[in-house]
Amino acid sequence: MLLTTSTDPFTRGLDYLYGVRSLALDPGIVDVVYDLDNRIPICTWVGNHIDALNTKLNVYLQACHDCFHPWEQCAIQILAAPFAQSFGIDGLCNLQTDPITILIDVGRVLPEDWWLLVMHEYAHAHAGSPGHHQEFAKSLAHLCLGLAIAPPSCQPGMEASLRSYPNCRPTKDPLAFWRGLG
Ligand SMILES: [Zn+2]
Repeated sequence: MLLTTSTDPFTRGLDYLYGVRSLALDPGIVDVVYDLDNRIPICTWVGNHIDALNTKLNVYLQACHDCFHPWEQCAIQILAAPFAQSFGIDGLCNLQTDPITILIDVGRVLPEDWWLLVMHEYAHAHAGSPGHHQEFAKSLAHLCLGLAIAPPSCQPGMEASLRSYPNCRPTKDPLAFWRGLG
């Protein structure tokens, strides 16, 4: 998926993050490659740990797939990456790539809640929409049922609350995780 020929952890991490930038709607969301203070420690950590991290996210992705019949499942890839804090988001779903790409900044959310973040972005992929309207609500409600958590309440004005449902607990310092201090 994202290939690198290097065995050097820093170069592997940098190659990976450039690859992720090419899969984001706005490459600027992964800005750490230009962050001179952080790029060496973060790229090195990514080079050493990203495969294990993405393996974990794929387990959560599969749990979401399992809530649907095989013919209802769409092709999705999921990747972890540090986001620019100015975007203020924990995850995103790029419907324009094939397969659909889900990017997750695992540094921004407590590890116990990563699966909830995956679930939210999966609902976007399944609904085929970046918005939080009826189709999204339907996909999310189905996932909540399958994964045994309380479904969102469907009331007028629900779009605002669906934007951050299920609620994920934030970490204090998002970049600490990516520097290996998480
Ligand atoms: Zn959303």
